[in-house]
Amino acid sequence: MNPLDLARPELRRLAPYSSARMEAHAGAIWLNANESPWPPFGTDAEWNRYPEPQPVALVQRLADLYGVQAGNVLVGRGSDEAIDLLLRAFCAAGRDAIVVSPPTFGMYAVIAQVQGAAVIDAPLRDDCILDVGAVLAAADARTKLVFVCSPNNPSGVGVPRDAILGLAAALEGRALLVVDEAYVEFVDAEGGCGSVADVLANHANLVVLRTLSKAWALAGARIGALLGDARLVALLRRLMPPYPVPSPCAELALRALSMEGMRTTRARVDLLRDERRRMRGALALFACVREVLPSQANFLAVRFDDAEAAWRVLQSAGVIVRDIRRYPGLGDALRITLGARAENDRVLDLLRTLPARRPAQLRA
Ligand SMILES: *Cc1c(COP(=O)(O)O)cnc(C)c1O
Repeated sequence: MNPLDLARPELRRLAPYSSARMEAHAGAIWLNANESPWPPFGTDAEWNRYPEPQPVALVQRLADLYGVQAGNVLVGRGSDEAIDLLLRAFCAAGRDAIVVSPPTFGMYAVIAQVQGAAVIDAPLRDDCILDVGAVLAAADARTKLVFVCSPNNPSGVGVPRDAILGLAAALEGRALLVVDEAYVEFVDAEGGCGSVADVLANHANLVVLRTLSKAWALAGARIGALLGDARLVALLRRLMPPYPVPSPCAELALRALSMEGMRTTRARVDLLRDERRRMRGALALFACVREVLPSQANFLAVRFDDAEAAWRVLQSAGVIVRDIRRYPGLGDALRITLGARAENDRVLDLLRTLPARRPAQLRA
């Protein structure tokens, strides 16, 4: 199948904006883009020039990292931008729909609503596992995009690769399956929930979102990538603003993705995985904790007897965690990001002494 058959027909005919940077390739004196002839105050870097629309070296580096071809990579301002582009390319206002599996990342539904697309829920099972049957049942004729987040935010639970591949096959010709792998660097190797980027070539309707914001410690630089069919990447390029990736950010990303940067990142990911094991084991024994969901990400969703009390104890000590009680099925839970060891110890110290809520019949 050609994924463009699912895109908004009016966009397939769109002639893109042609930027100065796209039209000119070689020269000694650059007077075509109304730039300043001098670098900005405070640096010798040539940031007075508009950046490459898709920085070639970064695209190639990401392609190597994720095991795909450069033509299958679109770099943008975080995966948030990729989600926005997909919604705009595939969902016409008042006509098309997306399927999401709450409790999950809220941006899919927000961007869909901004775009005027319907949001169809296929809720996770009670144990926060993806309900593949419910997803397929929810994907109706209006549905253009199906979002699966693995490992899922805010539960941390991973989705087995087999389930994702089955979904991709079942949705072929009907909808794109968008797999958000923002946390996939943190999954345990033996868990079966690893990246599906390696099978992109077999599924033209499969799209993978990756980001440098989490494991790569570059949330401030806003670098994310969409991996997918080359025709899809080319279409989204035409919708994108002409210069989406600031040059200082592309430089930071390349530095982080150097050999030495990779070694550092790998060591940090290993450390956070150890902390995940340690924190889950410790928290599960606390009187105030009902359950710690089995996370494959760099955070733990923790169910409390009294989440309000836990939140207050942490908050009053200046420890800020995410209150996720508004998510369906997580009305008693907080999401705690795994920090450095001393930061995690602080969380344990604060929660260790918090009592269980007394059963109702024992209250005065
Ligand atoms: C953090 C996060 C992202 C990453 O967003 P960026 O725009 O790349 O920073 C994407 N998806 C999920 C589920 C996330 O939690």
